[in-house]
Formats: sequence, C-alpha cells, structure tokens
Amino acid sequence: MTGMFGKVKPCAECNLVLLGAMGCGKSALTVKFLTKRFISEYDPYLEDIYSSDELVDQQPVTVRVMDTSDQEGPVNCERYLSWANAFLVVYSINDMESFKGCQLYLQTLSMHKNTFRSQTPIILVGNKLDMDRYRQVSQSDGEAVAIRFDCSFFEVSACWDFLSVQHIFHEAVRRAKRG
Ligand code: GDP
Ligand code: MG
Repeated sequence: MTGMFGKVKPCAECNLVLLGAMGCGKSALTVKFLTKRFISEYDPYLEDIYSSDELVDQQPVTVRVMDTSDQEGPVNCERYLSWANAFLVVYSINDMESFKGCQLYLQTLSMHKNTFRSQTPIILVGNKLDMDRYRQVSQSDGEAVAIRFDCSFFEVSACWDFLSVQHIFHEAVRRAKRG
C-alpha cells in the first residue's frame, strides 16, 4: 500500500508465543503487558490467546499473545510452531530448574527450525529480577545461552514497572517485522 502512509501495512498482525517452565512468570508477564497490573495468583493450567491493539514505533499492530501452559516441557508444540511470529522463552533468575527448562524449549525450537519461518526471532527473558537476592542464574549465564541459540536477551520483573515489560513485547514485534 502506498500513499500518505508509505509502504506501511494498514492492519499488521503479530503473533507472540510465551514458552517456559511452569511458574517462571509467563502469565504474570502477559497480564502485565495487557493490563499494566501484576496479578500474583494466576491459574497455572490456563492456556489462552489474548489480543491487544498496540502502537509500536507509531505503527498500529494487533498483537496476539499465546500464554502457554505446558506441564511437561516442550511437548505438543505443533500448535504454536507455525503460528508464531516471535517466541519469548522465559525462565526465572531465582530458579535454576526453570533455566534448564527454558533450554529444552530453545533446543526444541532449533530442532523445528524447518517447521516455522527460519527468521522467526527468539527472545530469552530472565524474569523475577526483583528476586535478585535469591538469584541462581547469573546474567552472564543468560547471555551465554542467548548467544548459543541466537536470541536477544533481557532480564525483567513482572512486578516492577510496566514499561520495561512492554519494551520486551514491543521488541519481539519489531524483530518479527524485520524477519
Ligand atoms: P507461569 O506458570 O509461567 O504462567 O507463571 P505465573 O505467571 O503463574 O507465576 C508463577 C508465580 O510466580 C506466581 O506466584 C507469580 O506471582 C510469581 N511471579 C511471576 N512473575 C514474577 C516476578 O517477576 N517476580 C516475583 N517476585 N514473582 C513473580
Ligand atoms: Mg501460566
């Protein structure tokens, strides 16, 4: 489309998928992004897709967020592999098990690289930064895994400010557009 908006697509859409071990904060991050609020208790078995009209770099985009809830790690991943425009793989910095768990997701994604568009970006998110006192995963451990799997990397807290959580979701949209 051309004209006063140049080549901008009028109704861009972007599908984001959150992956990671139970309890790492996928739902808390999703709810924070959608409502600006931190909700501390969220049904751990609820998986759903939410939609939000966003402005990313002054461009409207309908962002759909699939908040997954796998109880047994990366199984039955067909439902999101081809749907996703970007993946957010989450662990909590105060839980080494969740860090191991997120690497299973990263391995699964790299195994299935042929199923989805090879340019689909992956963002590694170390959540619960407010729990720094109980940190089990160093920032450099996170960075090393991000480099190994060719991801961008952020540490964040779902219970701190909204903007830093929003930034990660918007960054996923930006990278998906570039891909
Ligand atoms: P999910 O299974 O990945 O969806 O995890 P939830 O979003 O349900 O969060 C699991 C637990 O961790 C809940 O008790 C949340 O309140 C808590 N939680 C989530 N994010 C944070 C965070 O950034 N900081 C802290 N301190 N707790 C968090
Ligand atoms: Mg959840």
